[in-house]
Amino acid sequence: MNHLSVNNLTGIRGLTENDLELIFQAATEFKEVINRPIKKVPSLRDFTVANLFFENSTRTRLSFELAQKRLSADVVNFSASNSSVRKGETLTDTVNNILAMKVDMVVMRHPHPGAPHFLANKIDTSIINAGDGTHEHPTQALLDAFSLRQKLGDLAGVNIAIVGDIRHSRVAISNILCLKLLGANVRVCGPKTLIPKHIESLGVEVSHKLDETLQWCDVANMLRIQLERQGEKTVPYFPSLREYANEYGLNARRLENLNKPITIMHPGPINRGVEVTSEVADSEHSIILQQVENGVAIRMAVLYLLAMKR
Ligand code: ASP
Repeated sequence: MNHLSVNNLTGIRGLTENDLELIFQAATEFKEVINRPIKKVPSLRDFTVANLFFENSTRTRLSFELAQKRLSADVVNFSASNSSVRKGETLTDTVNNILAMKVDMVVMRHPHPGAPHFLANKIDTSIINAGDGTHEHPTQALLDAFSLRQKLGDLAGVNIAIVGDIRHSRVAISNILCLKLLGANVRVCGPKTLIPKHIESLGVEVSHKLDETLQWCDVANMLRIQLERQGEKTVPYFPSLREYANEYGLNARRLENLNKPITIMHPGPINRGVEVTSEVADSEHSIILQQVENGVAIRMAVLYLLAMKR
């Protein structure tokens, strides 16, 4: 099939293997485009996309906007901090007002899990989820898997560890779903307090020991501690950032103790010295900047393939 099976990208849940292949194939072509001297194609000319960000973002927002501009789409940006949401407007009203101005597609980041699904059922336009609370961040998982495939080839049977704050991470859930669909073996690793109960039901292994996990894996995806989502708990999830870094931070010493190279990933923004040291983040085994580059190509692919369905 040459078309996506979905009309919206609300999550990785619901995508098929064929959808992933279509997205990766289109992203490969768009990556070639963005490396040319003239980085633009007319694919989405006369197409208007609204980026609605109800929560802060730097790289995802820039990446979507660049992807839209490289496809020649018209772009409008909205951020909740200076909008009528502050005056009490509902999400549906805000979005319907924007659509009344003849917008063809919406990219949305929202602090509430499920917000893009809710909207997708209410309005007649394609929605792309750019992160909904602690739930999903599908384009991040797609760009992560795409970056790994470019480095390692087929991911079937590859051992991939996702390390850190799994409990509050939308990147973790989307990555698990995407990597399992591609046949990888996935293990999550972190302190007990940061691993959600029943995560095994997604087909992943669980470990609380980083060194043992590093021995097992071919790839380590080091997630950021989501301090902004941990709230003001009376009993914190871990004693201190320093202790977290000792137990779960990736440093050169840990990598030297392995008798094999592993690929290091991070979705950004990095807390240098907490989940990874600078030495590791900037090492030859890190693909962190390739992930950022591939983010634009993947978002071009998703925008293009969804636009083709309208
Ligand atoms: N940028 C990613 C997200 O929006 C990861 C992170 O913030 O740690 O979820």
